[in-house]
Amino acid sequence: MTDAVDPRANVPRGEFGFEHVPETDQSFENALDRARAGERLTVADGVELLTTGTRSAGIDRERKELVLEAADRRREAVVGDEVTFVANLNNNVTTACNTGCLFCNFKDRSEQFRSANDADYGGFTKRPQESREVVRKAIERGIYEVTSVSGLHPAFALDEAHRELLESSDRGDLNYRPPAEYDVDPGTYCEQIEAMSVDGVHVHSMTPEEAYHGRRGTDWSYEEVYGRLKEAGLDWRPPRPSAST
Ligand code: SF4
Repeated sequence: MTDAVDPRANVPRGEFGFEHVPETDQSFENALDRARAGERLTVADGVELLTTGTRSAGIDRERKELVLEAADRRREAVVGDEVTFVANLNNNVTTACNTGCLFCNFKDRSEQFRSANDADYGGFTKRPQESREVVRKAIERGIYEVTSVSGLHPAFALDEAHRELLESSDRGDLNYRPPAEYDVDPGTYCEQIEAMSVDGVHVHSMTPEEAYHGRRGTDWSYEEVYGRLKEAGLDWRPPRPSAST
């Protein structure tokens, strides 16, 4: 099967202008003073600091240095010079996704992953058992957190109850196909989380987009979706992104 669209080249770069430019009623100087004083910053303060002032276009290099210096002094005052890190593994389950987020260079068009496709393709999908093995080996090397963000594979369901609903739905807009249509069955989100939850490792996963995918075609609340994932072993989820995965 020939690919009609190369998902790695479907970003129409250079075609975007900025319809909205940031404006605030704060001044850069006030925002910088508040940051230096360690005060809780407002959104307007943050916008002034990130843009080095909204009253002029572009980034002012001198102001940028002032912001960086204030941030560094604040870091020094709050946490000193001790450096810490999390020994972490990224176990992403699949690159199959049709969503088309413009910044994303991770996705591979899911149509390619179907058994009916004879052509070679890039990307991967892991079965739950494969995820478990990856995590188990990483724990042996000393990690204590797993993060996982995946493409919205059409065969993904939250759990078997969700799959039953998807299988019986006659809606054509749910981005669902049965696992049997693919070379590799990713299982359900709950099966993947349970598989990654090895020996009490901290599992951090399920972006809002994935949770949306895990409740498509239902009226389930996000509390219910995340509740089921928590029962499966999810410890924390990524924050709502200003951009996405
Ligand atoms: S949902 Fe995630 S994997 Fe899919 S295109 Fe968006 S960022 Fe990429």
